[in-house]
Amino acid sequence: MSSVRPQVWALADINSFYCSAESLFNPAYRGKALVVTSNNDSVIVARSAEAKAIGIKMGEPVFQVKHLQKSHGLVICSSNYELYADMSARFMQTLDDLAPAVMPYSIDEAFMDLSGMSAFMDLAEFGRIVKSRVARDTGLPICVGISSTLTLAKLANNGAKKYPATKGVVDLTCPARQRRLLRITPVGDIWGIGKKLSARLIDAGIHTGLDLAQANTSWIRSEFSIVVERTVRELNGIACQEIEAVPPTKQQIISSKSFGQPVLELEDMLKAVASYAVRASEKLRGEGQSAGQLTAFLSTSRYGADEQYSNSLTAPLPHATQDTRIIVHSAIELIRKIWRPGLRYNKAGVMLGDFRTPGEEQEDLFAAVSDSVKSEVVMGLLDQINASQGSGLMKFGRSAGSNALWEMKRGNLSPAFTTRWTDLPKAR
Ligand SMILES: [Mg+2]
Repeated sequence: MSSVRPQVWALADINSFYCSAESLFNPAYRGKALVVTSNNDSVIVARSAEAKAIGIKMGEPVFQVKHLQKSHGLVICSSNYELYADMSARFMQTLDDLAPAVMPYSIDEAFMDLSGMSAFMDLAEFGRIVKSRVARDTGLPICVGISSTLTLAKLANNGAKKYPATKGVVDLTCPARQRRLLRITPVGDIWGIGKKLSARLIDAGIHTGLDLAQANTSWIRSEFSIVVERTVRELNGIACQEIEAVPPTKQQIISSKSFGQPVLELEDMLKAVASYAVRASEKLRGEGQSAGQLTAFLSTSRYGADEQYSNSLTAPLPHATQDTRIIVHSAIELIRKIWRPGLRYNKAGVMLGDFRTPGEEQEDLFAAVSDSVKSEVVMGLLDQINASQGSGLMKFGRSAGSNALWEMKRGNLSPAFTTRWTDLPKAR
């Protein structure tokens, strides 16, 4: 036996999340072709299985599918991000209650670290428990994929989604099973292999996931990239991918964490939420996006004798922004509104949504243009400092107890920058 404990990851992912959330409160929608549209109802951002089956494409303009309402009973829903954020928080809460460590990856999926669990529990059985508990607590259908690396867990989850015989749970920790699933998986369906890359791989004779898993790593590195090489290793059960290194989804960025110790004081809660807002803003800039909407949420533990409470609030940002200061400020305002004193909170977080590509966003009529230019300069500087310092100057603590905000204040000495921080809570 190796002394290193083998890693085990489970990926829980909500099936057609937005569509499932819409159907929750409108049972008549179930089993129908249903799509959810972007803000301003311009394009399709989510499709039910039935909508996919009648050929509706992701990103398709809404006017092109309108005629299907009559001919196919298509249901068209405007996006309700407040609902999705709330359902997402409940989903994450249930996972938190069940798994030792939960890492939200996007609004509707989270990785759970199950390393060591197989010694006392069948992993597929655990997956089934998660699935039924999420169904019971939220009404949402999910699939669970379990394996030794993130990429294989993602593959397992895809398998659980694709093959009804799995009943939504696939334990792919066994290498022989991994090979079997890889053999029937087109290379383009492997996590991180996009359309462009899959076309090049197919040209090079790599058609399936198994072809990729068996490819020579140094050849892959020289012909493609180190990123693809990592994928090859991951497919062979060698962990190379970290959750933090994984790009978030393009539609939302979520930053949230369960607290090690229950949080009782508003000041501590605000510090924690501010640090999540900072992290989310960094991810947002990393994606080259601006956000038009912010959701903040908090909750107490679902169990125990203490009073239970969870709430979330969504608000538009003054204008689409990627400015940490505005995002932190808004997150704090929202949390103040939903905070109830006297409770033991065990979780909080923020979610950014309504993404626009900078330059395309509508300017706030009341915001001076120079503000947004200044903001870009300051944020660019902040990211540069972060990059050059590695984990240094502007790395923010993640636990509620750290001096996250204090560190940030100290790191930004430019007067124009610090004067904006007046609304932030002081470190103890
Ligand atoms: Mg999903």
